[in-house]
Amino acid sequence: MVLAELGGSISRALARMSSATVVDESVLRECLNEIARALMQSDVRFKTVCDLQANIRKTVNLEALAAGTNKRRIIETSVGKELCKMLDTGKPAFVPKKGKPNVVMFVGLQGSGKTTTCTKYAHYHQRKGFKPSLVCADTFRAGAFDQLKQNATKAKIPFYGSYMESDPVKIAVEGLEKFRQEKSDLIIIDTSGRHMQEAALFEEMRQVAEATKPDLVIFVMDGSIGQAAFDQAQAFKQSASVGAVIVTKLDGHAKGGGALSAVAATKSPVIFIGTGEHIDDFDVFNVEPFVARLLGRGDLPGLIDKMESIVPADQQSELVAKLSEGAFTLRLLYEQFQNLLKMGPMSQIFSMLPGFSSELMPKGQEKQSKEKFKRYMTIMDSMTPAELDSTNPKLMTESRIIRVARGSGRKVKDVMEMLEEYKRLAKMWSKLNVSKLIPPNGKMSA
Ligand code: GDP
Repeated sequence: MVLAELGGSISRALARMSSATVVDESVLRECLNEIARALMQSDVRFKTVCDLQANIRKTVNLEALAAGTNKRRIIETSVGKELCKMLDTGKPAFVPKKGKPNVVMFVGLQGSGKTTTCTKYAHYHQRKGFKPSLVCADTFRAGAFDQLKQNATKAKIPFYGSYMESDPVKIAVEGLEKFRQEKSDLIIIDTSGRHMQEAALFEEMRQVAEATKPDLVIFVMDGSIGQAAFDQAQAFKQSASVGAVIVTKLDGHAKGGGALSAVAATKSPVIFIGTGEHIDDFDVFNVEPFVARLLGRGDLPGLIDKMESIVPADQQSELVAKLSEGAFTLRLLYEQFQNLLKMGPMSQIFSMLPGFSSELMPKGQEKQSKEKFKRYMTIMDSMTPAELDSTNPKLMTESRIIRVARGSGRKVKDVMEMLEEYKRLAKMWSKLNVSKLIPPNGKMSA
């Protein structure tokens, strides 16, 4: 089961339980079985799933719960906590600090997405105010330097490498010297990969690490390998003192649950996930917001972080102002549909809001979703400015609805459907409490 579907299945199981008149043993059992099935289809280990189920059963004792307690809330909280436990290593990874010459070395198998991820990592930190640089110490794969050079040039990040030199240690040391002199505060070293874990690869990694003394070694792993992630992460951890992991290719089709839980089982913290080939398809990985997103509760800290890293500075304040106002008008919805249709960076942001990603634009149904947005926008085009800017749901009376339906050439039923969708999103929006995350001065902080 792909990651987006896993989240949908878990939140559906919880929602079904919530709609049951009485939450008793059999309702709870059915809900937990459904969650277990979803996790296993997503490649999570059988034993991990059994432990998760047993722990929830232990914390939720329906008979012991006093009458009047909110059983559903308790079960939901317990499911969330156990999912967090499954993914949390409890070990924070090294975080680069601005102004210091941080050295970060990337390791991983060939094809895992290591070179692409080096640039994504550099670009992410560049947007956060770092002065990153890239060193290509991959002398094994022909074309590795060209690829890094191309990516780095596009992202305007200084790079170093050589077509002639075959000694990766020499290149790494030269690159390090050069960028230390140039006062780069985040020197990223891309090392060679192989098709398989083999002694020569580990020996080369050891030599480069010994010569460059990195503050952090990041292991890049292909997320589509599911449970096999455990052995791979373990082998790299033992051979190269890996301090953090980035799991790539968790875009839509990957059975991400398996890889993420397997890596966590090796006690290596996952710090980012790669979600596509584009440089911005890169998300900070934090367990709690990730689980909140899986459960359909949205990921506000992730959203703020994404905003800082991908929205150009001159557009940030406008968006912050809109978010802080807290008013989710039809006009704001119209603008977001425009963004989603353009598939610009803003679409990634709004896909992190609860209700937007899973229900409004489910993965695999992008075409149908886009047609729906266009239909809704045509309807909104027939509304007056006062109607678009209103926050009063009662404003849209029967006669106004009939007028809009006529004006847009759609049926009354279509207008009602659009308004229902709007109300659903506006309700979620009102629960978000954006102002807590965004202080009045507009400076974002996750
Ligand atoms: P390396 O051999 O480990 O350096 O791997 P590359 O960086 O050359 O990546 C191998 C392939 O994976 C390339 O086609 C990348 O575009 C692709 N890739 C890397 N990261 C991701 C990701 O997060 N999602 C997807 N879909 N593709 C990725």
